[in-house]
Amino acid sequence: HHSWLQGQSQVFSADMLHYSTDKLTLMAELRQAIEQQQLALYVQPQVDMQSREVLAGEVFVRWRHPSRGLMTPDSFLALAEETGVIYPLTQWVLTEAIATIAQLDKAGLEGKIAVNISSQDLLQDELIDSLDILFAKYNVKPQQLILEIKEGAFAARPSQSISMMQRLHKMGVELMLDDFGTGLSSLSHLRQLPVQSVKVDCSFINDLHKSDIHTAITGAIIDMARNLGLGVIAEGVEEKEVEQKLLRMGCNRGQGFLYSRPFELSGFAVWLKHWQQQ
Ligand code: C2E
Ligand code: CA
Ligand code: CA
Ligand code: CA
Repeated sequence: HHSWLQGQSQVFSADMLHYSTDKLTLMAELRQAIEQQQLALYVQPQVDMQSREVLAGEVFVRWRHPSRGLMTPDSFLALAEETGVIYPLTQWVLTEAIATIAQLDKAGLEGKIAVNISSQDLLQDELIDSLDILFAKYNVKPQQLILEIKEGAFAARPSQSISMMQRLHKMGVELMLDDFGTGLSSLSHLRQLPVQSVKVDCSFINDLHKSDIHTAITGAIIDMARNLGLGVIAEGVEEKEVEQKLLRMGCNRGQGFLYSRPFELSGFAVWLKHWQQQ
């Protein structure tokens, strides 16, 4: 295969070959990271921008890598999805999330936690059983869990993915369509999907106060969600002007740096108490 490499040298640079080895190492490490407790969850509040009530906390995974430092999901998630490591990762996230809901309940801070799940997770039949077990073990109601699913997640196996979503919906879990507006099939699929809410992608929200086209798109999504009886939340709310504009447009739910950057999940109860006292 030496000649193959030579023949492809224009396309596959030495850098890319190195990157591949790097990727393999990283995935072997990620499998271990779950057992070695190197993964951590950060949380970001989802708020009612009008009443200032906190509606849920969305959790994001981080990897405290022993030599690379704190890694955000963009540096390992796609690879985890390609190699199937995503499934044990999701199991770990769900366990931590549901245990946290139980802790918040005990502290009298009843609330919801939103978890991001991948397309592959929807193809795992065990997802239903493992959720059943976790809800029973921690005495948590399925209604306290939100699963955020990227709208592109159905592309590969739509019917299998949708039937899994229907089962999750029957359990009582809230399903939210994430990054809404960025996919091509969003409008045609929305009617068929058993989702209760959509999340307008941050790419439309960041500069909402300055962009006519993003205002038009966001307005269309809000109106459509309302017509279909769905909830709508905006992500990436960074500016007060954006919050005020969303409220005028009829969207009350928001999350973003304006309220809080994601922070360690272990600090959520204290954050909630401070927020309530404001
Ligand atoms: P996402 O679900 O769309 O999450 C929003 C991302 O935007 C997060 O990045 C969050 O930290 C960031 N963010 C929050 N507020 C703001 C803001 O006001 N402005 C801007 N510019 N960004 C904001 P993060 O944590 O790096 O996560 C990136 C993506 O990785 C997430 O996108 C989600 O798709 C995925 N992800 C994160 N955690 C998990 C997980 O546990 N499981 C799975 N399957 N995916 C995850
Ligand atoms: Ca999300
Ligand atoms: Ca997003
Ligand atoms: Ca920005």
